[in-house]
Amino acid sequence: MTIKNASPQADDEWALETRAVRSGIHRSAFNEHSEALYLTSSYVFDDAQQAADRFTNREPGMIYSRFTNPTVTAFQERLAALEGAEACLATSSGMSAILTVFMGLLKAGDHVVAARSLFGSTVQMLTGILARFGVTSTFVPLSDLHAWDRAVRPETRLFFVETPANPTMELVDLAGLATVAHDHGIHLVVDNCFCTPILQRPLELGADLVVHSATKYLDGQGRVLGGAILGSQALVMDSPIYQFVRTAGPSLSPFNAWVCLKGMETLALRMEAQCARAQVLAEWLETLPAVTRVLYPGLPSHPQHDLALRQQGGKGGAVVTFEVAGGQGAAWHIIDALRLISVTGNLGDTKSTLTHPSTTTHGRLSEEVRQAAGITPGMLRLSVGLEAVTDLQRDLARGLIQA
Ligand SMILES: *Cc1c(COP(=O)(O)O)cnc(C)c1O
Repeated sequence: MTIKNASPQADDEWALETRAVRSGIHRSAFNEHSEALYLTSSYVFDDAQQAADRFTNREPGMIYSRFTNPTVTAFQERLAALEGAEACLATSSGMSAILTVFMGLLKAGDHVVAARSLFGSTVQMLTGILARFGVTSTFVPLSDLHAWDRAVRPETRLFFVETPANPTMELVDLAGLATVAHDHGIHLVVDNCFCTPILQRPLELGADLVVHSATKYLDGQGRVLGGAILGSQALVMDSPIYQFVRTAGPSLSPFNAWVCLKGMETLALRMEAQCARAQVLAEWLETLPAVTRVLYPGLPSHPQHDLALRQQGGKGGAVVTFEVAGGQGAAWHIIDALRLISVTGNLGDTKSTLTHPSTTTHGRLSEEVRQAAGITPGMLRLSVGLEAVTDLQRDLARGLIQA
C-alpha cells in the first residue's frame, strides 16, 4: 500500500473548480474513489534502517501524525492547488496558523506592522501574547500604503493584513502593499479567510504567505476547526515555520482535514451562491431607512468598489456589515428578533449568522482600539449562507422595522 507524499502539485491546466474536487488524491491499494480518512497517530516501519531513514528525512514517507498524515497531506495539496502555492502546511485552527507564522518568522526585538482592523484574536495575539516575548507591533489604517511605509523600522520583519477586513469590509491593494513590503525586504502575510482562493489569490499578487482559517468557508458547514499556511517551499516547509508545527504540534487532526477536504469540493459553488445572495441583501439593506450604512465591497457605494472588482474577481464576498441608527440597543433588538438566522460568532457557514462585533468578537479590545478599527456599537456583521434571500429578508426585517 503506497501513499505518495509528494509536494503539492496541481495539474496546471485544471480550472479552480476541478482542483477543488480532484487535487490531492492519492489512492491506496484498495483504490477507493472518495478520499480515505487515516485515523492513525503513527506508522509502522519495515526495519530499523527504514525507521532511521524516515526520521532523518533520508527517505520520504509517514512518520508520526504530528507532522505527517496522508489525509492531512491531501488537504494540504488541494488547498495549495487552489491558492496557486508551492507549499501548504495545515494547522489545528486559523489562530494556530497565525501563531505558527509569528513563531517561525519573529524573535525578541522584532517588530510587526499590522492593519488596524483585524480579527479580534489576531490583535490579542500581537498585543497580549507576542508583546510578552519582546515583539512589538504598530497598527496602521489598512488601505493607507503611505502609513505602512512610514511605520517600518529597521527591526520590522513582517506586514500582516486581512482584506476585506473583519468586520469593517475595508480593502487594501495587495499588489501595492507587496511592493512596499518588498522595498523594505519585509514579508507580506495575508489572512485570506474572507475571500478564499475562489475570489482572491494573494500569492499571485505578490504576498509571501497566505494564512487560512479552514473553520470558515473551506469546511463551509460549521463543523470543525482548521487552518493552513501557504507560500513557497523555502518559506513554509524548509523553514522554522514547518519546524514549529513539527516540534510544538499545533497540527491539523486527520478527521478535521478530511471534513475540510470534502468541504472544499463545493467551495466554488458555495462561494458563488453565497456571494450572489449577499449582493442582493446588501442592495436591499441600503434602501432601508433604519440602516445608516452598508459596508459591502460589491456595492458601488463602497469607497473601494473598483479595487474589489479588480482584486476579488468582481465579487463582494459573502459577508455584509451594516450599521443601524440607535447604537447597541437597536443592534441587539435586531438580533433578539431573529427566528431563522443563527446568533453565533462563526461565519462562512451555509447557515446565515449574525454577530454584534463590538460586544462579541471584538469585545475584548479596549474602546479606543475598537474605535480606531472603525467598529461601532450599531454595527452588525451578517454572514450570508444558502437560505432563500426572501426568508433572510423577512427574518432581518422583523427587528429592523420595529427598530
Ligand atoms: C475565524 C478567523 C480567524 C481564526 O480562525 P480559527 O479557525 O477560529 O482559529 C482568523 N482570521 C479571520 C479573518 C477569521 O475570520
